[in-house]
Amino acid sequence: MEQLDLLWEYQELEKLMDRYRQERDGLSIRNELRKLQRYLMQQQNKLVKLDEEANKKSNTLNKIYHEYDTILNSLRIDQEKIENGSIKNIKQAEQLEKNAQNLKDKLSKKEEQLTELIEELEEFSKVLKDIGINVSKGKREYTKVKAQYDEQAGDIQKKYNEAKAKRDALKKKIDKELLSKYKELKANYDEPIALVTEQYCCSGCNMQIASLALQNLKEGTHIIECENCGRILYLKRDKVQAS
Ligand SMILES: [Zn+2]
Repeated sequence: MEQLDLLWEYQELEKLMDRYRQERDGLSIRNELRKLQRYLMQQQNKLVKLDEEANKKSNTLNKIYHEYDTILNSLRIDQEKIENGSIKNIKQAEQLEKNAQNLKDKLSKKEEQLTELIEELEEFSKVLKDIGINVSKGKREYTKVKAQYDEQAGDIQKKYNEAKAKRDALKKKIDKELLSKYKELKANYDEPIALVTEQYCCSGCNMQIASLALQNLKEGTHIIECENCGRILYLKRDKVQAS
């Protein structure tokens, strides 16, 4: 039956396509590429997190600068009071003295905070620089590996496309009903069309084919399915002629 010859060929081409797909997925360089992708992604996430932290610290730094300025300004105002002679008595002078000491204490505290923050920010910029170096190294490596992968995968893809083109051309010659039966079976079986073995068994499930079904098969007038597994049975031409 010519239709079954075509369907058999169709299945062979699909198997070939599967093999090419597996070959492509199994390329060792594909793993290498994935690893590099993951690495770059991790570094990217680290950068985003560090950047957020650096922003927060930088905001704190600005706030402290501002507070520092305010304290300095208060000191200046008191200083002016002394200079323009608006201090009338000792009590006022003492009060001013007390204020000044207080403000100076505050200032030195702020100075400490500032120094600490600036050191932290310097540490940050060192870490950022290191990550930057790692990322650019990683990107260079990725470009190199990607090119190798594209070359290897491209060869396989070409062969895959050829097989697919042949299969698609064949599709037009196969009876629609037969093809949809095949596709239905494909959900459960890798090979929906099964060869009849030398011992007249279904090569899909190894069950002996009943003599009436075998007779029908040999006549080749209609499609016969395996009684046990439901696969479409295919008897090669030479066998039909030999018997
Ligand atoms: Zn079977």
